[in-house]
Amino acid sequence: MQVSYNKLESVLERTGMTDVKMEEIMKESLEKLRELKQQKDAVILAHYYVPDEVQDVADYIGDSYYLSEIATKVKEQTIVLCGVAFMGESAKILNPDKKVLLPEPHADCPMAHMASVENIDEIRNKYEDVAVVCYVNSTAELKAHSDVCVTSSNAVKIVRNLPNKNIYFIPDVHIILNDGYCHVHSNISSEDIIKAKKSRPDAKILVHPECKGEVLELADYVGSTSGIIEYATICEAKEFVVATEMGVFHELKKRNPDKSFYVAGNLQICPNMKKITVEKVISAMEKGQPEVILSKDFRRQAYTPLKRMLTMAGQK
Ligand code: SF4
Repeated sequence: MQVSYNKLESVLERTGMTDVKMEEIMKESLEKLRELKQQKDAVILAHYYVPDEVQDVADYIGDSYYLSEIATKVKEQTIVLCGVAFMGESAKILNPDKKVLLPEPHADCPMAHMASVENIDEIRNKYEDVAVVCYVNSTAELKAHSDVCVTSSNAVKIVRNLPNKNIYFIPDVHIILNDGYCHVHSNISSEDIIKAKKSRPDAKILVHPECKGEVLELADYVGSTSGIIEYATICEAKEFVVATEMGVFHELKKRNPDKSFYVAGNLQICPNMKKITVEKVISAMEKGQPEVILSKDFRRQAYTPLKRMLTMAGQK
């Protein structure tokens, strides 16, 4: 979703107009970012899980599929990716001639490393006619050894349209078989959902597909972060229990000020996404680093599965 700069002022509202110092700091930051974007010909993309104030300084916010797609459409020469490492890598793979900055290079997704090239080779040797389907939350190296990438918003559609007899899906165990998982979503239990349903009987239960199967079974809706936001926005219900990272509440509340959103568990925070701050965004733009650097080989090999995802996701 494209956002405009007047939305940045919501930071000031949230931090309280009475706090003059905070207001001054935020105004300075916003002014600085405006200048830097012009000077560096830069655009800021942010994931829904990063802190609220970082979402507010972004030009575009969305889930990992949207960020990959929009990265191929923006005209600016520098892309500032506010998200975890694999998101910056995807933007670079799809835009090899552009500069991609990751404001916090240590913001990494543990799940991205939960498969190996050896596993992929083993499966390719064992099964004939196998497609290696790589969840976008994976390293550039894993993507480079895969046939197609997917995200939670398009996995079913893409897998259904693959002509292969066998599908090997990496790295998330909760989608097909591999032993990777996202600790944020795995921490949400069926007991959490049952408890939430009891205390809020009218609430719809919205669940991200990275949650465990027992949690998915209790959902009224299962979908990506963008899917959850769309569903809650068009649904007539007024209360929702949301089983995904809490950063998504910022957009949910912005779009639905008259509705109430509740967490399902207690630990719905991705510590890596929360490492990104407005100060780090400014610093990255000033210094022109940390920059995403990938070997030519990885970039070339990983381009095809990522591009194939964008093409197949766009097909009817
Ligand atoms: S929420 Fe989970 S999948 Fe997303 S970046 Fe954090 S650890 Fe990775």
